[in-house]
Amino acid sequence: MAQKFQSTFFGGLDVDFEHDAQVGAMTNFAIGGRADVLVTPRSTDALSLLMRRCHNSGTPIHILGKGQNLLVDDIGVEGVVVKLEAPCFKSHTYKRIDQCDTMHAMAGADLATVLMDSARHGLEGLTSMAGIPATIGGAIRMNAGGKYGEISDRLQTVTCLTSNGDLVTYNAKELEFDYRKSSIPAPVVLSATFELEESDPVEVRKRVKEIFKWKKTRQPLAESSAGCAFKNPLNDSGERVSAGLLIDQSGLKGFTVGGASVSEHHANFIVTSPSATARHVIELMEEIQDRVLDATGIQLHNEVVVWSRDEAVSR
Ligand SMILES: Cc1cc2nc3c(=O)[nH]c(=O)nc-3n(C[C@H](O)[C@H](O)[C@H](O)COP(=O)(O)OP(=O)(O)OC[C@H]3O[C@@H](n4cnc5c(N)ncnc54)[C@H](O)[C@@H]3O)c2cc1C
Repeated sequence: MAQKFQSTFFGGLDVDFEHDAQVGAMTNFAIGGRADVLVTPRSTDALSLLMRRCHNSGTPIHILGKGQNLLVDDIGVEGVVVKLEAPCFKSHTYKRIDQCDTMHAMAGADLATVLMDSARHGLEGLTSMAGIPATIGGAIRMNAGGKYGEISDRLQTVTCLTSNGDLVTYNAKELEFDYRKSSIPAPVVLSATFELEESDPVEVRKRVKEIFKWKKTRQPLAESSAGCAFKNPLNDSGERVSAGLLIDQSGLKGFTVGGASVSEHHANFIVTSPSATARHVIELMEEIQDRVLDATGIQLHNEVVVWSRDEAVSR
């Protein structure tokens, strides 16, 4: 049941808000339901105050990045969804400190835009992120990466907001970044600094193109998906094995539930047709987990984040 917020909840807050907002449509899957309210703060202070009000009233709060690793259930998501799209959350700047090139980026900044701009400035450090669709905040939360590296490789500091709305800055060395996860204790990543290196702009751009080309030949980048559906699991020897290979070996390429299918191009991508619902994707993922477990004895775990009013479905 959608919760209606009293307009006093947002009184004195410098935010835009929309009740019963179609947030599923804002993900790359472009399917799924609504949030009780979508809030777009216009400043860090407004976001901080919003966090405090949500904390004090026990209202769940979710941060929406670029929606590239996210599935919103058809029954929607409870509470406040925050989108960091005001200009103050999208900027990035460069500084040279102690002969070291650093970049400060706000969490709502588009990773590809930041990457291409740093390449134009002849600054190397984020090229491994080529072809990964994300905001800076979403990429840090997920420790996005792949064959060429992870976003945490060049991370210096991460500034966050606690659930009570307080600002806290962590040195990246204090945090743990592992395969597609971070130990950041605060719910909101607000900004980050990265250490970059001066290089030849032509060479940096060439490397970005090479990595993007590599990704394009292996993944269905143009289709509706959330990237890899499952994390690559650990085998008995503690080595990561390809979830895509396990799904393929279980005979599931092309396997379909409603409008959701296992990609023929890359078996760890679930791609959707216009008739798909979020439940088709969820049922397909459960079916893949069961069949891979039966065929290989290995349990797959979600990489895709699922938001749902049903706690048993949220991941
Ligand atoms: C075609 C395609 C290819 C992809 N390839 C890769 C790949 O090679 N490697 C890889 O790692 N991923 C890949 N992905 C997945 C996706 O790009 C990453 O997970 C990315 O980090 C998601 O960022 P986002 O901003 O879209 O986050 P969202 O999908 O919006 O959110 C993901 C999670 O991060 C949280 N979050 C977002 N912003 C913040 C914030 N500011 N503070 C706190 N929490 C936040 C959300 O609440 C949610 O839990 C791919 C996806 C697609 C569609």
